[in-house]
Amino acid sequence: MYFIFEIVFSSNKMYIADLIRAYAKETQIEADVLQTEEKILLVMNQEDAKLESFLKGLEEVLPASLFMGRSRHYFSDKKPALIPASSMRLPVNIAPCPSCQKEMFDVSSRRYYYPFTSCNHCGSQHPFVTQYPYERAHTTMKFLTPCEDCVSEAKSNALRLDYPLISCIECGIALRMRDRESEHLALTKGDYRKLFEVSARAIASGESVLMKTAHGYRRFFKPEAENAASTSILLMADAKGFNEHLMMVTQEFNALLSIERPLLRVATKSDALKALYGASTRVKYPDEGMTMLLAREILNTGLAYIAYEECDEDEEADFLVDFDLPINTQEDTKLFINQDTKLFVSGERIVFPAQVHSEKNRVTVAHDLACVKVGEASVIDSVEVFDSVQTEELYLLESEEFSSGHANEHRFEQYKASMLSVLAEHNKVGQKAVGVHFDGSLNFLYYNGKQVINAVPAIPFESDHLWEKIRTLREGSDRLVENYKKAYPETWERLDNLEGDMDIFEVTAITLGLEDESLEGISSEALSFLGKGGLQIDTRVKDNRFDNYAFLTSIMSYQLGDVENSYMCYSIYESFGDYIGEIVPQLVEKTGTRTVVLTGETFANQSLYGRIQRTVGQYKPLMNKNFPIGKENAVYGALYI
Ligand SMILES: [Zn+2]
Ligand SMILES: [Zn+2]
Repeated sequence: MYFIFEIVFSSNKMYIADLIRAYAKETQIEADVLQTEEKILLVMNQEDAKLESFLKGLEEVLPASLFMGRSRHYFSDKKPALIPASSMRLPVNIAPCPSCQKEMFDVSSRRYYYPFTSCNHCGSQHPFVTQYPYERAHTTMKFLTPCEDCVSEAKSNALRLDYPLISCIECGIALRMRDRESEHLALTKGDYRKLFEVSARAIASGESVLMKTAHGYRRFFKPEAENAASTSILLMADAKGFNEHLMMVTQEFNALLSIERPLLRVATKSDALKALYGASTRVKYPDEGMTMLLAREILNTGLAYIAYEECDEDEEADFLVDFDLPINTQEDTKLFINQDTKLFVSGERIVFPAQVHSEKNRVTVAHDLACVKVGEASVIDSVEVFDSVQTEELYLLESEEFSSGHANEHRFEQYKASMLSVLAEHNKVGQKAVGVHFDGSLNFLYYNGKQVINAVPAIPFESDHLWEKIRTLREGSDRLVENYKKAYPETWERLDNLEGDMDIFEVTAITLGLEDESLEGISSEALSFLGKGGLQIDTRVKDNRFDNYAFLTSIMSYQLGDVENSYMCYSIYESFGDYIGEIVPQLVEKTGTRTVVLTGETFANQSLYGRIQRTVGQYKPLMNKNFPIGKENAVYGALYI
């Protein structure tokens, strides 16, 4: 009889299954671990005396993961067919796992307050990788020789067997702290701890600390009214403060604490945070060693949270904490949650590197990411970690600045690759589908099984000479322009002097006078609206296409009618939802397919997403699962062009 433990796991990432395998090895229990597209199965002998203690221990070493769902167990007299696990080692870029964290806070360990503590299944590995295949010689740690303890540990510790980046305070990366007068080098356990202690105290007393982290430079500070720019990210020092300061559903709480530690926009709750950030803010739970150790010391100062900004190394600050090793940073990944749906909005971390399956001899490049064959597998990662490669054909995103000189080079459009990435993730390449691509501008697509066609393209938007375009839109528009000039002379002036290449949401945010002049600003403003909606924003004038100028004109007339900003922002998304809900059924009817695909970052918005569920929910629209719904999905989709 077999005992089978099953965990829902909705990702192609292997680190959780690998960790279970390593832990089984460590505890010397015989267990087979296999991973399918939806779950991880753990198969053990029911009679094994160590079974119970193994499962108990597993609970302690397994981190919470974004991808993990419910678990269950059952008995079976047949062993499930085993699929061989992938042998490809890919560098992860997530938080330290529970075992590694334990070492970081255990004064007797060689890694007490050592920020680069990691194992085969966790931590900041990708920042140090310079090239594939992933081995120490291909990382910036190649110049650091592991000490004797580390060498022997790499042979004996099941969690760190042959771990390429093994290191400790003795042999690892030295930290340095500088203020205007002096410089201190951390060499011993005590020094490491001291450095974070001093940093935390400085922040608590109102000074700023610029820190080189595995995710690039961050300027940490205590957010107070005058310095809480809307661009800063709220860093919660521990999970206890969550319920006091933030309004979250369970899914959001779990996602923030998951080992992947995504960036999440969350509603504020406490008066203190409302005063600093308004209705919502981007929130982070410590996501890598430096930030985690700082957060621990911040707690000791009595603060529940601080803030940080991503910045360059030459940013002004009272203290600088850094290290010499160069790092290769990834863009942080934003997550969107609506009930049980989780979508990666944009970014590289967590998602890449990704191993994908491709039968073609093709390299694709988009947004500085490339899909390249590494041995038998295809891997998507930053362009710079791949050496020169041989390929039959090269597919480049049209806007990509990349000179290859390859004889068989093709350029492709973003929307085509985005739509195909969704179809590929759902095994629907080759079947007809209708698509909506909404990334600043809105396009309706049709895929005939061979290629993606832009069926209802957006009318191009140019933000220069704006008033002329609005004035001539329709009868009476010139009056609106005059009234607007009288009521909002400053905004009028700004809109009169715009550069031509701004997107409609930036211009809308400026029109509404939002602090954050972007789509993000409109989204967060919409979140603060608690009413019911019903404001109709005009989105088109002719041929059923979305007309940016009609849209702006409509917003301006509501503004003149004293409609509140939050109501307007909410209605913007609602109107888009209705518009999409009108066009999609028409396309479905015309093309005879009920497969509907949604792509583009703009969908990651509570008002729009909710509206879409109502207007096109009947088609169960498909979206990306493993890849971001934003532009980064193109590098994968281009494999199917
Ligand atoms: Zn670990
Ligand atoms: Zn060592």
